Amino acid sequence: MTDDIRIRRTAQSKLGQVDWNHLPFGRIFSDHMLVMDYADAAWQTPEIVPYGPISMQPCNATLHYGQTIFEGMKAIRAADGRITLFRPELNARRFNESCQRLCMPSIDEARFVELLKALVRCERDWVPASAESSLYLRPFLFATDELLGVRPSETYKFMVIACPAGAYYAKPVSVKIEEHYTRAAEGGTGRAKTAGNYAASLLPTKLAHDEGFDQLIWTDGKEHRYIEESGTMNLVLVIDGVILTPSEDSDTILRSVVKRSVVDLAKHWGLPVEERRISVEELVAAIRDGRLQDAFGAGTAATIAPIAEIGLRGERFALPPVETRTLSTRIKAYLDGIKSGAIADELGWCVEV
Ligand SMILES: *Cc1c(COP(=O)(O)O)cnc(C)c1O
Repeated sequence: MTDDIRIRRTAQSKLGQVDWNHLPFGRIFSDHMLVMDYADAAWQTPEIVPYGPISMQPCNATLHYGQTIFEGMKAIRAADGRITLFRPELNARRFNESCQRLCMPSIDEARFVELLKALVRCERDWVPASAESSLYLRPFLFATDELLGVRPSETYKFMVIACPAGAYYAKPVSVKIEEHYTRAAEGGTGRAKTAGNYAASLLPTKLAHDEGFDQLIWTDGKEHRYIEESGTMNLVLVIDGVILTPSEDSDTILRSVVKRSVVDLAKHWGLPVEERRISVEELVAAIRDGRLQDAFGAGTAATIAPIAEIGLRGERFALPPVETRTLSTRIKAYLDGIKSGAIADELGWCVEV
């Protein structure tokens, strides 16, 4: 299905310059990138070319109106050298849901996965060998029409770039419950993985950093009463032995592949799970009464990120020590295990490239 990809290889690989023991997130890019244009109402021939700058018109609608979406996924090397992607069909589906919300042309889901596999095969030497590291893949799509008017573009560029990356958060995170700023409103673009959501989050996130927090926990835009998600992660809590996560029924939460996997696994293991609204009040009461047993962020970049501390209205609540977290520890061990090949992948989540 990918026989049509044109490949132009770099004459000078950067592989020799990489310090594999020090891989800061998003700074080092692999040798090649995938590019596929959309024009005349059709996807054109995809190309894999040397990574480098692209040129575009200053009036490009992406720069002015933000008609652009992205995905984030990882290629992982198992202990025996096999390289896999984690549930890539879910990223393909979400990519197309984002396309739909932003009036952009979709890509056939199987084709999307095949294009990613083709780039990873080309970059296989860039997939780190150490267990905590991976080759982070960033597919994205943006408008390219030469027109300053506000309307959906008729031409687009789809690209995939890749960067080798180590662990995202070195230690458990400290998060602040945000009750003023809003990430997403009902009817807005919160469910789409689109640039504008992130642009709007920069200031509130910076303010939280200034107060010493790593990230925010967003609350609903209407009442600021219910917790939604964190910066680049969905949230999972364990209260009184029940696994809780905000439901995705409203269109204000980005549907995380990792969070979906946590819920799927919990159900597979027969553990009690509730996807429902969770109020700030309920969370704080559970912390105060010592009924909160676990809390973590779920997202591709960090995978499972234990939350050490939650801030609310100037108060800081310390959460139970990470060593006592049975759910996040078990989930992380399972996910790491199927990716490295140490545990049988009974649910078929790791797709070989
Ligand atoms: C990408 C993203 C996540 C995490 O989704 P995964 O599929 O698990 O990586 C969560 N929230 C937001 C806002 C995101 O953009």
